[in-house]
This record gives sequence, structure tokens and C-alpha cells, in this order.
Amino acid sequence: MATEPTVEEVQEKLLKVRREQGISETVKPIRSIVKKQLPEKWERPTICSIHNEPLDENWNCPKCIEAEKEWERKYEEEQKIKEEKRCKEIADNPEPLLINIGVGKRHLPCSFENYQGGEKLKSICMSVVKEPCDLVLTGNAGSGKTHLAVAIFREWIKNQTIKTKYDRDDFTLLKNAKFITVPDLLLKIRQSFSEGSDKSEEDIVETYSSYSFLLLDDLGAEKTTEWSITTLYTIIDRRYRELKTTIVTTNLTIDQIGSQISDRIASRLSSGKVIKINAPDYRKKR
Ligand SMILES: [Zn+2]
Repeated sequence: MATEPTVEEVQEKLLKVRREQGISETVKPIRSIVKKQLPEKWERPTICSIHNEPLDENWNCPKCIEAEKEWERKYEEEQKIKEEKRCKEIADNPEPLLINIGVGKRHLPCSFENYQGGEKLKSICMSVVKEPCDLVLTGNAGSGKTHLAVAIFREWIKNQTIKTKYDRDDFTLLKNAKFITVPDLLLKIRQSFSEGSDKSEEDIVETYSSYSFLLLDDLGAEKTTEWSITTLYTIIDRRYRELKTTIVTTNLTIDQIGSQISDRIASRLSSGKVIKINAPDYRKKR
């Protein structure tokens, strides 16, 4: 009796069959290759051509099926290792993901290491890194509030709180965080109201409510329609209800947000941590 082929030998033979039939070697293994080996007119096979052993009642070879299963298991394991490696590479080099999330060139280098403001502010923000919560950073222009917010995002990428997931079904890279300035978001909302827009208001709300982490930069008292503000409130409110983390930077105090933008937005934002930055404009200082 011939010696039993090793798993590698069986897989090599299965691969050969795949190549001959033009089946991709990288797709997940397909069952019943034995059946596919057969020509149009065939006599019912009784013996596996690879193992020289009887086929079961469905004309499958139990050993081939076993080998396929083992192959699938190895494939899944390899994919998992690849995925872990990819995530680690992103964590070690946060810039590309920061860009992908929407952080502009100016704020790309912002980190806790190069923050020039107070140590106390820094340590409060670092506590938010450890325990994510809603946060409002309020202060005058150039006080470094966006710097701190981006530094928090950078740390979240480094510890893989903010991450991407490769969707094998539609070949897209999904991310769980977004940076957008409030004027840009209001613009998107206004555009969604216009006729012929490819995105509805609900699409915008859905998109910006779905990110686990959202940085709304530069909430100010720019002139905008009541409708846009209501939509902005809907996003902030939905995120609050779904326990999604929102960081807002603004040059207004909570009271000013209430009087100049919306009472309801002010009320939602005040439920999280509110940090007032009294720092001088360190952009001018440099
Ligand atoms: Zn077999």
C-alpha cells in the first residue's frame, strides 16, 4: 500500500488542479474540486485520484475535504496575522491615517510632545486619551485647542483606538474617526438641501453620526441658516445618544454657543468635559 500523502503534498496537488482549471490560487478554497476534475461525460468516480481512497456518497473524498478545511484554517490564520501587522504599522506611523481622517497639513505634526501650552491642560487631555469622553476645548484663536485635539487623535491612532478595517466584501477601507471643520460640515449640510444634490440631509447625519470619534473643529458664530444648525444639532445629539465620542474646538464659551448658535447644542456640549484654554496666542509667540 502506498504511503499516505502529507498535507503539503495534497495541497500542492489541489493547487495544481486549481491552476489547470484557471481557479485563482488566492481565493478561498472551494469544496468538491474532485467533482470539477471530471470531464462532461463521466463515469461515476469511486476513488479519489489524489488519495486513492473511496469517495463518500456525495462523491467527495473525506481526506480532500479535511485538507481543504486545514487549508482554509491556515488561510484565515495568515489573514489574521497580516491584519495585525497592518494595524501595527498604522499605529507606528499615524500621519497617513490622520490625513485620511481629514486632518490638514497645518495640524498634521501636532502632538503632546510638541505642545507648548500648560502641563495641566496637557494632562487633562491625556486623561481623555485613556478614557475617551466628549470634550469641548474653548479658547481664543491660536490658543492651541486644535493642536490638543489632534494630539488626542494621534494618541488614539497609536493605541489603535482609532483604526481602519478592510472590508473584504466591497474592498473598501473603513475608518472609525473623522476630522472636519464646522464651517465645512455646515457647507455640506447646506449643499444637501439644494436640488440635485447626490447626498441627502439624512446621508450627512448618518455619516457623521456613525464615526466612533469625531473632531468638530472651529465651531464659531458664522452666519448660517436655522436649518443647518438644526442638522448640526441632530448629529451632535445622535452621537450623544449612541455614546460616540465628540471633540469640539471653539473660540466661544458654552454661554456664547447658547446665545449665538443654539441653546440645544450648548446644552448637549456642556454634558461632556469643557476645558477653557487661557493661553496666549503661541502662534504669534513663535
Ligand atoms: Zn482525496
